[in-house]
Amino acid sequence: MTELLRRWKTEDKAAMADVCHRLYDRGYLVATSGNVSIRTDEGFLITPAMTRKDLVKPDSIVPCDSAGNTLDPSKRPSSEIAMHREVYALRDDIGAAIHAHPHYCLACSLTEIPLTEMLLPELAIYIGPVPLVPYATPGTDEMAEVLVPVLPKHNAFLLNRHGVLVLGQDLQDAYNRLEHLEHMARVAYLVSSTSGIEPLTKNELRKLTKQARTLGQHISETLLDFLE
Ligand SMILES: [Zn+2]
Repeated sequence: MTELLRRWKTEDKAAMADVCHRLYDRGYLVATSGNVSIRTDEGFLITPAMTRKDLVKPDSIVPCDSAGNTLDPSKRPSSEIAMHREVYALRDDIGAAIHAHPHYCLACSLTEIPLTEMLLPELAIYIGPVPLVPYATPGTDEMAEVLVPVLPKHNAFLLNRHGVLVLGQDLQDAYNRLEHLEHMARVAYLVSSTSGIEPLTKNELRKLTKQARTLGQHISETLLDFLE
């Protein structure tokens, strides 16, 4: 391993530990729940099993190959490893994934409030439609199986009775999307008792997309598909 590659990986592990602490501090997960991963040349790095996210350290991150086998026998990876393995197998464009249990996303999944409509510009541009994925037993291969049909087309997923999975080009991109998604879920939940909330029209979304291009903002591919 070259010195540069070793340093790069050390930085990635530190970034993952930092995101775990932020997820915990923001209340996006509790205790040992949730997991974070980053793609590597060999496969991916993932957070360890049964570890409080406020106590994750760079050294506790687990390196895995692309099949999800740990490359460090002294460490045990998150039980949701199948979900992360499937993300990297099916999406060449994704470099990081975060699974968390934010309050309002969870509330929307339990009450089946859809996040598929483009209610706010930030959600439209940055994430696109967010599908509700059928319930699967946490920590099993079922979690990956229910995601497979929707994984290629979306960057964020509401996991029924469980939480969310959010993908990004890199870790910061995934974390930004998670913040936008939980903000959107909170708004959707607060207005859910009000009838007649209309999504942005396709015409408004096209104007929004044009403006985002002018500003050089990254536009969600799922929004562009939606507008075709
Ligand atoms: Zn979970």
